[in-house]
Amino acid sequence: MKELLKKATLKQLRQCLINKEFTSVELTGVSLSLAEADKTNSFITLSHEKALAAAENADKKLAQKCAQPLCGIPLSVKDNICTKGIKTTCASKMLEDFIPPYSATAVERLEQDGGVIIGKTNMDEFAMGSSSKTSYFGRVLNPCNENYVAGGSSGGSAAAVAAGICPASLGSDTGGSIRQPASFCGVTAIKPTYGTVSRQGLIAFASSLDQIGVVAKTAEYCAIILSTIAGKDGKDMTCVKEKEEYEKGLEIGLKGKTIGIPSELLLRVDEEVLTAFWQGIEVFKDFGCRVKTISLPFNNFSSTVYSVISSAEAASNLARYDGIRYGHRNNNGETFEEALKSLRGEAFGFEVKRRIMLGNFVLSDVNFEGYYKRATQLRQKIKELYNNAFNECDVILNPTAPTTAFPVKDGVLNEFSEAADVLTLPVNLAGLPSVTTTCGYDKRGLPIGLSITAPAFCDKLALGFAHRFENGGGRK
Ligand code: GLN
Repeated sequence: MKELLKKATLKQLRQCLINKEFTSVELTGVSLSLAEADKTNSFITLSHEKALAAAENADKKLAQKCAQPLCGIPLSVKDNICTKGIKTTCASKMLEDFIPPYSATAVERLEQDGGVIIGKTNMDEFAMGSSSKTSYFGRVLNPCNENYVAGGSSGGSAAAVAAGICPASLGSDTGGSIRQPASFCGVTAIKPTYGTVSRQGLIAFASSLDQIGVVAKTAEYCAIILSTIAGKDGKDMTCVKEKEEYEKGLEIGLKGKTIGIPSELLLRVDEEVLTAFWQGIEVFKDFGCRVKTISLPFNNFSSTVYSVISSAEAASNLARYDGIRYGHRNNNGETFEEALKSLRGEAFGFEVKRRIMLGNFVLSDVNFEGYYKRATQLRQKIKELYNNAFNECDVILNPTAPTTAFPVKDGVLNEFSEAADVLTLPVNLAGLPSVTTTCGYDKRGLPIGLSITAPAFCDKLALGFAHRFENGGGRK
């Protein structure tokens, strides 16, 4: 059954469950044992009892001919998304023992549809990073080659899917955290339009950029799961999108559609990545797409705008970890200030502290106008540039990351260099949907990702492009 779990499509797994070839309890057991034997460290917590109870429930529903597409399917959830009764740590000492009293809306919806959550996936601490090496619980390795990182911050989710432990996983994306690890591990992922999936229960990093999304084996799985988790939620007023059936109509006609290729975004991309990207473009040309060079001239400032805005929001969001409202406690310090200094000093890792300091710096009285306000103006400019670009093309294609996965042994510099996210973060600043899929491999056998970005709330269009690509010879 292990091979089946690795290779079968979601639909095939579902058919096997319906035909009683095996039960969800059996399937979940296999998934859990794969996760236990996993050498990539993709999980922080495995939730055996709850998963098996959910699987038993799913088996009952299946016996009553339950039509929900996820019924009985083992799934995983990034450890910054709250799961009632299951530890949710954000990969930080700060939340090492935090057991949420409620589940995120996205998780509730997965469970309502019969999805079985086997555990919580590893990540960069508080979702800050591009390598999944900053986790308090140890780094995540890339299942394609364990000498390389899985990418981040949703590295555990991407690794778990790539290793065949579960067919899909929920992640979060603030500046590329779903797409970049998916690209490094050779799986598909969607960062939905801001406002498509409720952020209720997603532990906030940068609220105006954060969005829950899906990592899965294929674009079709991403679509099926997005249909379950998306849609308005009274508990998140920024979630405005009505429910939609993303998996219906994925076979879109590509003939005559225009693909925009932003010349500036290709400037700092590795040769091998570029070669695979252009091969991917040929596949779309064969479908009858037109290709047009467009201009998105924000390369010189988008990373800085992202750093300023995301750090400012992180500094505010992470103020709640004071050992009283939330988080780690110790008994040090005579005064509140001393206690705060001691417990935050002890429980946050280096990268989290760096961002809190940067955030408070740009929000301080003297710097607010020059940094924070200026960054919000430039963010508006990035949105306008995208809007103009979409007058000329239907979707925008670029490599997902400038390189393939970094060696695990590399120093920290690589992972924190702004270059790692330069191709993914503009999409978050503009709030757009973007899907990544695999378009090739480098000479070490590491996957290369291609990103498809669509106008706001045209998530289905991006998924359709990826789906046609995956089934039309694009996926190697
Ligand atoms: N790598 C980016 C950062 O560290 C993106 C993180 C994310 O999307 N959560 O900020």
